[in-house]
Formats: sequence, structure tokens, C-alpha cells
Amino acid sequence: MSAAIIDGKAFAARVRAQVAEGVAALAGHGIVPGLAVVLVGEDPASQVYVRSKGRLTVEVGMQSFEHRLPADTGEDTLLDLIAQLNADPAVNGVLVQLPLPGHLNSDLVINAIDPAKDVDGFHISNVGLLGTGQKAMVPCTPLGCLMMLRDHLGSLSGLEAVVLGRSNIVGKPMAQLLLGDSCTVTVAHSRTRDLPDVCRRADILVAAVGRPQMVPGDWIKPGATVIDVGINRVAHEGGTRLVGDVDFDSAAAVAGAITPVPGGVGPMTIACLLANTLTATCRAHGLAEPEGLTA
Ligand code: NDP
Repeated sequence: MSAAIIDGKAFAARVRAQVAEGVAALAGHGIVPGLAVVLVGEDPASQVYVRSKGRLTVEVGMQSFEHRLPADTGEDTLLDLIAQLNADPAVNGVLVQLPLPGHLNSDLVINAIDPAKDVDGFHISNVGLLGTGQKAMVPCTPLGCLMMLRDHLGSLSGLEAVVLGRSNIVGKPMAQLLLGDSCTVTVAHSRTRDLPDVCRRADILVAAVGRPQMVPGDWIKPGATVIDVGINRVAHEGGTRLVGDVDFDSAAAVAGAITPVPGGVGPMTIACLLANTLTATCRAHGLAEPEGLTA
């Protein structure tokens, strides 16, 4: 193995420490940032995420508000709750845990959140602001990837970046962020021709596909920086284990640097949620934004 390992767990701990410092500084102004998380239904994975979000929110000194609603909650009830959270000055960030049960219209619900409190960055206004290079709330996972890339590479200007995947929550905002940092960006997807060749162009390869170990080492340009967003559970020795979208062993033999799974992008996502909540709080009070925690 020749690649440097980008340790997302350690980096996320640094980001959370920086957020905690920002929160402590706000206390001097009598401000305590608050993050409200809304969970509808009993999806086990979502329950785990919501629990760790709540724990880490409190750990950095913020207030955590959890709203757990039954799976059969009607749209009007959910929209009423969002309106209350939008109006509540103690709440600076509102996150509705996805996926929502099938009878609820996710777009309608997400777009009911006040864009200034939309710490997931999924509101259509924030999507537009990001796309036009304006100050937005930026989706947490791509923001975490960008922070890791900047930390590892310094300036990204002029680099060839290939983003594998075009979802609204990872691939598209990732591409916008890389473009914002002056990369030459290619977005690849399931209809892309000659995918291996496209990937081999990349100085920066971000894989967000959801297919276990799909990217082998011979798709990677020697020395490239590889960010593996994928989280896939696969059978392993009678149990299961997590793997990324990149075949770690063969990729690490070629890449210059690579994020592992687990312990790479995953921990950065919640750290960036907390960073976004701090940013939203500073903006709401007209205070200077924390440095290094935004795009
Ligand atoms: P989506 O399923 O929404 O999008 C997957 C994308 O990959 C699509 O654009 C799809 O193309 C593309 N794709 C699928 N198969 C292929 C293929 N064979 N060749 C090329 N492209 C392909 O997934 P998400 O973006 O939501 O998530 C991607 C991965 O990242 C998942 O493993 C998910 O678990 C993980 N993830 C991790 C997070 C973290 O915190 N670390 C947060 C969010 C996601 P097309 O559009 O043409 O169908």
C-alpha cells in the first residue's frame, strides 16, 4: 500500500472541537445554538443516526431538540411542526431525517423548512444559491468531502475532478463545490460510457454510487486523491461488514491518498451538520461566520 490514509474520524473530531470553540464564543453573547431533528417512523438506521446526532450536538455545547413522530403522521401535522420550529428563536437548525414514510412528500416537507435553518442544505433555495456560487447552506456529506480535500491538497484549483454519482444529496452538490474551488469537473453516472477511462483522468475521484467495491485500483490515476462516500453492508465471515464504493486494497496501491470505509467520509457528515448549525446561528445573529467550516 502506498496511499496516505485520510483519517475522517480524527478530522471529524477536530471539526467538532472547532465547532465547540465557536459555540463557547457565542455563549459570551448569550447565544446557545439549537438543532431540531425530526424523525417520522421507526426506521432502525434513522433511529441510530438521530441518536448519535443528538449526542454529538450536546457534546459541542448546543441544545438538541428531538421530535419523534409515529410512522402514520399526516403531512399537515408534520408541516405544522416545521412551521413551529421555523418560528422558534431557540432553534437555529432544522433537520428532517430522510427517508420519510412513503405517504409523505419529501420535497414539500424539505421546502417548508426556513432556508436559513436548513442545515442539511436540501431546500431548493439553498440548492439554487450553491449552484449560482452564492452563500448557501451546503449539504453535509459533500461539505465534509470538500474539507478533507482542502486539508489534504491545499488549493484544488485546476485539478481534474471526477464525481461518480449524480444524486441530489451527494453527487450534484459535490460537483458544484469542486467547481466552486476551480476544479475541472466531470460528473459520471450509470449511463456514462467508458467509466474506467473517465475515472483514470481524475486527480480527485469522489465515489458516491452505492455499489460495493465497484471502483478497482486500475481505474485510478497514480497519485490521485480518492474520496469514498459509499457505505455498503456486505456478507463477511458469517456476519456483515461495511465497505465503500472503492476496492480499498487495490486502490490504495495506486492512489496518493484515500479515505477508508468506515472511518472516512462517514464521521465528517455529522461534524458538518454541527458546523452548519453553528454557521446558521452566526448568520441569524449577524455575527462573523466561523472560519474553515463553510464552503
Ligand atoms: P443514489 O442511489 O441516490 O445515487 C447513486 C448514483 O450512482 C446515481 O447517480 C447512479 O446513476 C450512480 N450509479 C449507480 N450505479 C452505477 C454504475 N454502475 N456506474 C456508474 N454510476 C452508477 O445514492 P446516494 O448519492 O444517496 O449515495 C451514494 C452512496 O453514498 C451510498 O453508498 C450511500 O450509502 C453513501 N452515502 C454516504 C453518506 C455518508 O455520510 N458517508 C451520506 C450519503 C450517502 P444514475 O443517476 O444514472 O442512476
